[in-house]
Formats: sequence, structure tokens, C-alpha cells
Amino acid sequence: MTPRRRHGTLRLTRCLAAGLIVFICLPRTPLSPSRADSVSLPIVRIDAREYVSLHDLVAALRIDTSFDIITQRGKLYRDSRVAVYQVGFAVALANGALVRAAYPVTRKNGEVLIPEALFRGMFSRLYPDRDITRAESAFTVTRPRDGTPRDRTKPDDRDRVDPADRRKDRIGFIVVDAGHGGHDPGAIGRGRIKEKTITLKVARALERHLRAQLPGVTVIMTRTGDSFIELGRRTEIANRQLKSNTNGIFVSIHVNASIARRIAGFETYFLSQNPTNEEARTTAALENNVVILEDRSRRKSYNDVEYVEALMLTTQIQKESALLSKTILREMKATMRPARPRGVKKADFFVLRGALMPATLVEIGYITNAGEAQQLTRPEYQRRVAAGIGNGVIEFIKKYNTMIKIK
Ligand SMILES: [Zn+2]
Repeated sequence: MTPRRRHGTLRLTRCLAAGLIVFICLPRTPLSPSRADSVSLPIVRIDAREYVSLHDLVAALRIDTSFDIITQRGKLYRDSRVAVYQVGFAVALANGALVRAAYPVTRKNGEVLIPEALFRGMFSRLYPDRDITRAESAFTVTRPRDGTPRDRTKPDDRDRVDPADRRKDRIGFIVVDAGHGGHDPGAIGRGRIKEKTITLKVARALERHLRAQLPGVTVIMTRTGDSFIELGRRTEIANRQLKSNTNGIFVSIHVNASIARRIAGFETYFLSQNPTNEEARTTAALENNVVILEDRSRRKSYNDVEYVEALMLTTQIQKESALLSKTILREMKATMRPARPRGVKKADFFVLRGALMPATLVEIGYITNAGEAQQLTRPEYQRRVAAGIGNGVIEFIKKYNTMIKIK
């Protein structure tokens, strides 16, 4: 959590917005039903992308809003509900739910422009009692169909999802990331066994397992050969797929190493800035080491302030990632017996940082343990590892697709 930078916060109240539209500053009186029936929001088009101007939104709907000029992050308020967006980001958090768009919030001539998908996602969660329709050049937002106040004892409207939304929220692709590659061998174990070789074999076996079991889901490999791929690029590959209008899963496969050669077993990780324990922190540090092999000019992105800001948007992704990690570990226990499960842990893995989807990192065993290293080189064992991970992914998708959002 970063300290709040109050001095930079520009509170755009109704009255400030009224600098341009005067009637907004008039005392708040109930509008006549005919005037209040609907409001129109022009569609702003830039390079075939469609946006709603934040200014139009605030002015037309009298939304309370704040915008932090340093972080470029803004909030929209309605009663106890809040939506958070950030310039440069294609995700927003609306009343606890993550909404995504294919392109980011942008600024043009001083105006903040919200992509259509984010506008709809944020608006529908702040105003579940209103409908949005669109015509060629504008959105129309209607008032509630009846004037009766919402019954708060009934399930919240925001939990109601129409079939089109639900389809969009389904898992449509899985990104399988074989750790390391090329001039980055990863950990090196007994008999000069390289981590990058084992991760690729298991990744290919997982690819086959998923293609056979989930014919309707796209499987994407970050690498299919012995090539070097920067950590940030791996999640870029995954995030690009979000444009296909479905959600995805990111699974990164690794082999652990320890100076204590007796340590063996497998574990799953999800991203957190607070590691489970010192051991989890060490594992993450080991996996993050590869950045020294990367192009210096690209390295800055890992330390970017934006990362911390982005974390604010990822509470939902973290919950989903924790469930994914848990489900995979449970299924691995079944296929990898008698190998030892070491639990679900959290740590700050750079490779997971950029993922805008449930993401997990699986450490399939210890390359520094003589017995386990030998097992890991066997195709039959690699298939068992892959089947465990694959079954976990399948179980997770079943849960995810029947759930609107994981609470
Ligand atoms: Zn690794």
C-alpha cells in the first residue's frame, strides 16, 4: 500500500464540473420525470476505438469524482460504491469487481477518455438500476424503470449478469509458460540437468493434456523451443489474448533449487508483495534473477511505480490466482504420489506481475535433490506432473465459469 498523496488529489466536485455546464451548480431539486428519463453521452472515436468522455459522464449524471494528477488515477462514487480507473490501464475496479477493456483509458486535450467496455463495466456496477443503450453516435442512460427504492435484503443487482457478459467472463484461453530458455538455463541440478529443458518438456505435455481435455479452449505457449523470452514479454503474450473477449489463465512452470539437497517436493505460488516465508522469498529471488540477462533498457518496467498502482486494481485477480494455485496443488497431489506437496505460497515473482488474469507459478520439484532430479527427466513422470497441473486448470475453469465472481 502506498501512502496517499493528498496534495496531488484534485477533487472534481459537481460544482467544478459545472465550470462548463452551469445548471449543475443549482441547488439539487428533483428533476421532473420527463427530463430525468434519460441522458445522452456522445461516443468519442479515436483510431477506431470508442470512448466516453469523463467530463460528459460527470456532467450528465452528476457523479461525484476525484482524480489524482500524480498517479493519473480517478474514482467515481455513488453512495458507498466506488469505481477506480487509471490512465494507461485497460482494467478498472468497480465495486470490488475487475472490469477489462481491450484498450486503455487515455487522455486527449486534457480530457480523460474511458473505453466503452470500462464505461459499461464501471457504470453498471455503480448504477445497477439504470440501463445503457447505444446508437451510432451516443450512449443513452435511462433512469430506473420504476421509482421504488431497492430492497437491500434481496440479492444485489450487481450479482446479476446477463448471458452475454457471462460468456465474456468465461475462460477462453490458457497460456502455458515454460520457465527460462535460451541463454538462461534456470537452475542447474545433479548431472548438469537444466531447469529450462525440464520446464519445456512438462509444458509440452501440459499443452497436449489441455488440448485433449478442453477442445473449446485455446492453448498458447510462450515458447515451444529453446529460446530466451524476457519475463515481462511472457505476460504481454497472455494479456494480448484478452482482446479475444474472453478471460484467460497464466501458468508458469519452473523447477526449484536449494542448497539443502535433501529438500524435495512441489508447490504452487501466486503473486503477492508479502511472501509466505523466507523460503518463498528466496524462491522468488532465484526466479527473478534472470532480469540481469535481459536488455537493460527494458528492465525499468519491473520497478515502475505503475506496478504498485496496478496492484490496487488486482485484488480480484489475486483471489482468483490463489484459488487457481490451490486447485492445481490439490490435483498434483493425486497424480504425483508419493512426491511431497509443499503447499500453496505467495511471493513476488516478476513473471506474474503483469498478468491481468488468474496466474500461478508451479515449482514442480527440486532439481538439487538427486532422486527428484532423476524423476523429473523421465517422460512418464513429466506426464504425471502435466496431468496434475492440467486437471487443476480444468477444475478451476469449471468453478470459474459457473461463478460470476469469486468472493
Ligand atoms: Zn525457474
